[in-house]
Amino acid sequence: MKASLRLLNAVAFGRSSQRSKSTSFIGLGRMGQEMAYNLFSKQFAQSKDSQFVVCDAVLRAFFIKQFPGAKIDIAGTPEEATMTSQTIITMLPSSPQVLSVYNTGILPALRMLPEELTSKTLCIDSTTLDVDVARSVALDVVATRSFMVDAPVSGGSSNGAKAGKLAFLVGGSDTAFKRSHPILENMGQRIIHCGPSGAGLAAKICNNLILGVQQIVVGEAMLLGTKLGLDPAVLSSVVGSSTGNCWSISVNNPVPSALPEQSPPCEREYEGGFATALMLKDMGLASNVAALAGCPIPLGEAAEAFEHPNLAQKDFSSIYLFLKEMMKAGKAVKVDVESP
Ligand code: NAD
Repeated sequence: MKASLRLLNAVAFGRSSQRSKSTSFIGLGRMGQEMAYNLFSKQFAQSKDSQFVVCDAVLRAFFIKQFPGAKIDIAGTPEEATMTSQTIITMLPSSPQVLSVYNTGILPALRMLPEELTSKTLCIDSTTLDVDVARSVALDVVATRSFMVDAPVSGGSSNGAKAGKLAFLVGGSDTAFKRSHPILENMGQRIIHCGPSGAGLAAKICNNLILGVQQIVVGEAMLLGTKLGLDPAVLSSVVGSSTGNCWSISVNNPVPSALPEQSPPCEREYEGGFATALMLKDMGLASNVAALAGCPIPLGEAAEAFEHPNLAQKDFSSIYLFLKEMMKAGKAVKVDVESP
């Protein structure tokens, strides 16, 4: 069977039975393409009457080419995807893209559909974005009688998304959570209902606040240890079996050869993994939401101030290179954080 490359015409009206068996995946970047493929393989590849549709501002043709023979359809716009599918999953960079895709595509389409169709529609947004933006989008979706969950993910592109081992941190009503669970199970291992709308994002942002700080201090310790003459593999093994153990030392170690049996991004010149720009975005989300909540996060603010234009697209463990550069230049790394 040849890959289906036909463009979909705006459909859906009067075709509710087909729409009920259709799922659209919007956003096929580093994470989305792996998640979409797992969902397609596990839920759609063997089914003759269901339909899987993909949509991306740039990468849709690239996605289809990767899976020759797979019956995957393409939607030209998020509006078309919504007309076609009862389940719509989004995996976009951040708040501006989610606002754009929902406000100019998904919501106008939902508002055009009859209630008989909107009341069966489920929107799952897996983007990491601002909690308040997510809540306001969800309110607009729910106003059309559709369901929505925020379901950001924890886990990287290869160990998590590609391996189907993501953790989904879900915010939404009990009904929306129950409906999203069997879909998310195709892409992840742990599906956790964190609370009402926005709760999944709140949990995700807190997790990444810890991770962003953790990766920097691991870089500092690895640099200091090697400067003091320790073998990076010995230091990693010691810390990995001591109280300093954490994901950044034992999985995402920033020093080549420190984890001889693994292949973290530092072994590939820090390519792949989780881009520094995305981590900085998440640290920004944490400082915004912390400011609104009146909650002090001095270490988070210090971590957010670490920025190096050449490292934006490299894995965020490349902060180690930045620290090395500072050491070579003979500068103490000093980050200004306002005193309380
Ligand atoms: P990415 O930039 O690789 O992918 C985003 C995709 O969205 C791109 O393919 C882009 O073309 C598409 N897009 C943008 N605007 C669009 C629009 N208007 N219509 C349709 N498509 C559009 O990002 P990613 O690494 O896949 O991350 C996605 C989200 O997951 C981010 O919020 C990120 O913080 C989060 N996340 C990423 C990782 C990771 O390891 N990469 C891990 C956990 C969570």
